[in-house]
Amino acid sequence: MNHLLKEEFEVNMSDYLIPASKVAHVFEENSLEHTLLVLTTTGYTLIPVLDYDNKYIGMINNASIINHVMGIERILFEQLPEVKVADVVIRDYPVLREGFTFDVLLKQLIDHSFLCVVNDQNEFMGIVTRRVALKRLAKAIHQPVTQ
Ligand code: AMP
Repeated sequence: MNHLLKEEFEVNMSDYLIPASKVAHVFEENSLEHTLLVLTTTGYTLIPVLDYDNKYIGMINNASIINHVMGIERILFEQLPEVKVADVVIRDYPVLREGFTFDVLLKQLIDHSFLCVVNDQNEFMGIVTRRVALKRLAKAIHQPVTQ
């Protein structure tokens, strides 16, 4: 891979990060009802879960919520306000640690449309989306990075 592009991307990584303050998220103490509202109003199907210290816990999506309240013959919607996000959160979703390399980013973006970035204290810094990375790559192909 083009080393200049790789270096440029890694040095300017913060330019590609959607900061935590702009990312729709829920807290592990929130209910599934609140989470479904956030997912529905934002139009996203997967969002990060944080604790009240802004530490990253995992991800939650529509499918995991509906699966959790699935009865034998119907969806038990009445359970949504009772169940907490902590009981449903996907904890083993991959994350990027601050200082991640472009190669790691590209590899992870093959399978995931976006990834959360955390610092050494596991604080949530924001997300990097496949769209932003591909836009940068497309730009570099048309305007190669020079020394
Ligand atoms: P995009 O490439 O902009 O369509 O984003 C890809 C995915 O990243 C979306 O489907 C969302 O799951 C997630 N995403 C992008 N922007 C945000 C945001 N501001 N808050 C939460 N999730 C986001």
